[in-house]
Amino acid sequence: MKASEKSSEQLRREWLEHPHFKYRGCAPDADDPLRMAGNPELPVGAHHGPDAFAPEGQKERRAREAAAVEVCVSCPVMVACDAYASSVGADGRLAEPDGVWGGRRALERHRALVKARHAVVAAPGRLFETPQKRAVLRALAVCWDPFEVAATASGLLVSWGEGPMDVRTANWQRSSLVRLLGLPKGASRMRALAAARERGLLEGVVLVPDDGSVPAVPPPTRVAAPVEPTQLSLPLGQVDRHEPPTRRAGRVRRARTGRVVSMPTLDDAFELAPVIPLFPSRRLEAAV
Ligand code: SF4
Repeated sequence: MKASEKSSEQLRREWLEHPHFKYRGCAPDADDPLRMAGNPELPVGAHHGPDAFAPEGQKERRAREAAAVEVCVSCPVMVACDAYASSVGADGRLAEPDGVWGGRRALERHRALVKARHAVVAAPGRLFETPQKRAVLRALAVCWDPFEVAATASGLLVSWGEGPMDVRTANWQRSSLVRLLGLPKGASRMRALAAARERGLLEGVVLVPDDGSVPAVPPPTRVAAPVEPTQLSLPLGQVDRHEPPTRRAGRVRRARTGRVVSMPTLDDAFELAPVIPLFPSRRLEAAV
């Protein structure tokens, strides 16, 4: 029998038996259309609250939403309802941005959406390993102008034995990186770099922030090479290695270690010091 051949009473009965009506807890009650099917004590529309012309206090709103969630919990289509309401349309918005749907309040669905957008997708690491992506990522770490990024990436690629890259390709590689990192399309440069660093793709690379002032990650501190101890060789006498040389020659003093050290006298120094003939002796004698 065609729908047009059925009586209105037959159609109504069929509709009341249909799962889309039967299991909708928030649907109007068959006997009282102003009451909710899932809980006759609640008015129809309790899942969405009053309109803008009837403001609602925070306390009342919480109580209403809690009662609506209870109705959802006993609704057989709750999972399907939540999946529909939490789905995202082509405009990036929730299918149902307001009210209680599928046992979740609007705020909970929005929070879940934001969390999902921020979650880093576990893209395979090999997708980041192409020379073009590595070059663009390293170029993005130090500059932000698209032309500079392309020029820096080209320099890296050429040094790696690859061909250069134009601005358009560099921009495309950047968009691809953002997508692979699980970030929204308009993610900022620093956000993309932070996500890449989280994944270990920028090990040892200094990140320069957008204003170019201070590197976000300072370069490693240089460690001074250990200084080799120099051995002072004194030609005169025997000096204790633990004691500094003293000017007070000719004295015998006790070292801190308890050993007795003999210091050379001034006469010994003159005896041992080499005599340098500044002038030939014969000329000296002639001058006298
Ligand atoms: S899950 Fe809640 S909002 Fe969805 S149909 Fe059931 S009662 Fe209505």
